[in-house]
Amino acid sequence: MYRLFAALLLAFFVVSQVSRAAERPPNFVIIFCDDLGWGDLGSFGNPTIRTPHLDRMAAEGQKWTQFYVAAPVCTPSRAALLTGRYPIRNGMTSGKRVVLFPNSGGGLPTEEMTLADLLKQKNYATGMFGKWHLGHLPQYLPAAQGFDTYYGIPYSNDMDKIGGPNYRQEVIRDPDYYPEIAHFNVPLMRDDQIIERPVDQNTMTKRFTEEAVDFIKANKDQPFLVYLAHVMPHIPLFVSESFRGQSRRGLYGDVIEEIDWSAGRILDTLRELELDTNTLVLFTSDNGPWLSFETHGGSAGPLRAGKGTTFEGGMRVPAIFWWPGTIEPGVVMELGCTLDMMATVAALTGTTPPQDRKLDSYDLSPVLLGKGGSPRQEMFYWTRAELHAVRSGPWKLHAKMRQPINYGQAVVPESPELYHVDRDVAEAFNVADHHPEIVQRLLEMMEAHQADIEPHPDMLAIPLKK
Ligand code: MG
Repeated sequence: MYRLFAALLLAFFVVSQVSRAAERPPNFVIIFCDDLGWGDLGSFGNPTIRTPHLDRMAAEGQKWTQFYVAAPVCTPSRAALLTGRYPIRNGMTSGKRVVLFPNSGGGLPTEEMTLADLLKQKNYATGMFGKWHLGHLPQYLPAAQGFDTYYGIPYSNDMDKIGGPNYRQEVIRDPDYYPEIAHFNVPLMRDDQIIERPVDQNTMTKRFTEEAVDFIKANKDQPFLVYLAHVMPHIPLFVSESFRGQSRRGLYGDVIEEIDWSAGRILDTLRELELDTNTLVLFTSDNGPWLSFETHGGSAGPLRAGKGTTFEGGMRVPAIFWWPGTIEPGVVMELGCTLDMMATVAALTGTTPPQDRKLDSYDLSPVLLGKGGSPRQEMFYWTRAELHAVRSGPWKLHAKMRQPINYGQAVVPESPELYHVDRDVAEAFNVADHHPEIVQRLLEMMEAHQADIEPHPDMLAIPLKK
């Protein structure tokens, strides 16, 4: 009798869960930092930056230690997150320019399907807050890519510089250097209107967070997508008064601790509204740390190099997934990539990704739900319009490199270099001579991938018409 009762109760619970899911698919919140390194959070081993909210998020959710972006700089990385396609396919990488600039005339082609477009199949409310960087002209702004609402800056916060000293020289001379807002004539936009210029960069993290919170509250009764793309910690670093001077890591630490506060504010809002058990939150970064800015750049922890390179420090980023009651908590060492959000979100919502073009996206939901391993077994490392490296399981082959810290010219090593990135996390020991057959297999993977790519016309290189 007791068993029958228990079985009935379980059946009722399952049916009610399923019907609830059918009624209302999950909400999504993607918190995307700019140039945050793999080693910049307490839960990823940073010794002097305090991130209690993100550490709690990691403890309650999944901390992914082998999560990637599809490009080591801003614009192409964002394009990959939103479309599930390598930027060489969607036009947001270039042999000529690294990213979009205020004098760029191009942007993410509107025929691309973004995560926001995908979720419009189920009438999601879609909000974008923070740095866009996929085209600042009206035809490329978030409204053209499926977002109902946009509040943020259209490109990087170091662009539109109008005076002041050389930032890199200043921070190297004086790590306590704090820039002046007036030296960066960056616009703040609401939808297609400029509402403040220059934007008060001190308040950006706080204001983008509060706008995202207001959006969640206003849309609590319908499914929503929040894309909160923090401008920080991209240089020049700015922080709210209440966080300034608080971190032992200096200004960079102050900035990360404010981002941590922001994540806490978002998760607290979801808890208060009782949306936490129906919302998948991803916290990650667009690329590795900008090391040439010394202490004003972040840390890739044990990984080699940083932003602008195809070493692990440039393209492996901290990642935390959170969905209380649904996600199986733990540390995940499987491979994942921002590219995979398209297939994952589609699987979790019953929406249909584009069928008429190549996708580079794997459904990670089996790992999130604790039902299986990651279908992603490889990663291709693109920079600009060049394929430099491939990872297959624990093996990574560099056919080209970019040395060492910044956007230096590509270097072709005398022969391809092979690293076992599980045993040799820092890519310190080239073992190509010991494993010629693995070198050969990975070279063939690169050739096959290259042959599968039909490059999109170079949208980054289009200049603004005079
Ligand atoms: Mg970036």
